[in-house]
Amino acid sequence: MGRLVVVSNRVADPRKTAAGGLAVALGEVLNDSGGLWFGWSGKLVEEPVGTETQMHVHHAGPVTLATVDLTREDYDAYYVGYSNGVLWPVFHYRLDLADFDAGYIEGYRRVNQMFARRLLAMLQPDDVIWVQDYHLIPLAAELRSLGCTQRIGYFLHIPLPPPLILAAIPGHDWLMKGLCAYDLVGFQSNADLDHFCRYIQDEAHAQPAGEGRWRVFNRFIHAAAFPIGIDVGEFRALTAAPEAQEMYQRMSREYSRRKLLVGVDRLDYSKGLPQRMRAFRELLARYPETRQSATLIQIASPSREDVSAYTDILHELESLCGSINGNYGELDWMPVRYMHRTVARARLPGLYRASRVALVTPLRDGMNLVCKEFIAAQNPEDPGVLVLSRFAGAAEQLKEALLVNPYDSEGTAAAIHLALQMPLEERRERHKALLATIRRTDVHWWCDSFLDLLGQAEAEESGTPWL
Ligand code: ADP
Repeated sequence: MGRLVVVSNRVADPRKTAAGGLAVALGEVLNDSGGLWFGWSGKLVEEPVGTETQMHVHHAGPVTLATVDLTREDYDAYYVGYSNGVLWPVFHYRLDLADFDAGYIEGYRRVNQMFARRLLAMLQPDDVIWVQDYHLIPLAAELRSLGCTQRIGYFLHIPLPPPLILAAIPGHDWLMKGLCAYDLVGFQSNADLDHFCRYIQDEAHAQPAGEGRWRVFNRFIHAAAFPIGIDVGEFRALTAAPEAQEMYQRMSREYSRRKLLVGVDRLDYSKGLPQRMRAFRELLARYPETRQSATLIQIASPSREDVSAYTDILHELESLCGSINGNYGELDWMPVRYMHRTVARARLPGLYRASRVALVTPLRDGMNLVCKEFIAAQNPEDPGVLVLSRFAGAAEQLKEALLVNPYDSEGTAAAIHLALQMPLEERRERHKALLATIRRTDVHWWCDSFLDLLGQAEAEESGTPWL
């Protein structure tokens, strides 16, 4: 395969330790091929729409990082408006939170066109392009309309809802036709893949053309599920490092008489935080012995505070935590410790390891990586228990977790109670199976299996035109 070109909304320098598993894994394959990573610089300029914004080119070893600035108006429409005000809520099944302002879709198209034009000028004939996530769905169609014939793959990191939910988006046919301009489209779960296949059959008369292969809009595409993982080796090394160890010791000392439950999330309405608090309240109400023996630490990092649905969820969560502590707290015990901030990545594994139970209960999540990090950070001799929403993409893989319906607070409370009481032998068995799964499907497996299939698509049908 030729040079790899990764395109994503934001570009991370893979050499920085804060970059996380995905950036590091992509960095490795980019390194191997002397690749290019293209995206938005994160900078805004106060210029009129249509201004030729600045391009920044950096070299990180053999990898070229190329980024462009956005005008504020483009950012408001493409990023805040369409990506996070339409696609994020609808793809997470929240039609009620979507704001279908016509100006947003125009801005989204405009930025994708601009990205296509500026990327095209940097492409080489044998490049293989890999586009990431919901900000850039129409990028391949825009590149194709400018004459790009290179192989292009796409991975959607968030869920894809069923066809009838997609159909509520004004312009959904344009959006979904855009996905069909790729050679390979990857999803997090089989459920998402199934929704895509149903959509293209129902709405675009796609015909099956072999395993995972479709004929649609007069060309062939591949579609498959590639559940993303973490870098398990790196995360276990982080767990053994002094900062995480120090955190572990401190938390274990502080909570030596109590079992710790932990939740770590971005503060997002898809994460089911109020529902989680209601389940915890139910636990305290139904199982009085937990009142003296369990503490929930909930860390929720600030996110997208320029979107109003996010400030609403913040207030709801604060009020629930306050009322639980007010109703159940004692002079020497607070049931919930809620912090609206980010924990340093180097310390996070220590917090996970000191916790008996992780509550990962999103209402909908493409994959969810927190649950995989929790598994990786455990001591296999005395591991904690994962309580996982069946609506996280990870639930398709992590069958040995305690799977819950986060809308059912009584059922979730019963599962948390079970987790708190689970005997050591059962904890070990479940953890062993979970660890084997996340090792087998780590982020390097994800990257390699996607690029392998994209390579195969190339061998079969190079240069299928886009009409
Ligand atoms: P999402 O991408 O929707 O935020 P994921 O679970 O897939 O959800 O990934 C979240 C990542 O961000 C994980 O690596 C997790 O460790 C990190 N993270 C989330 N919340 C926090 C927090 N409050 N403090 C530190 N890291 C966090």
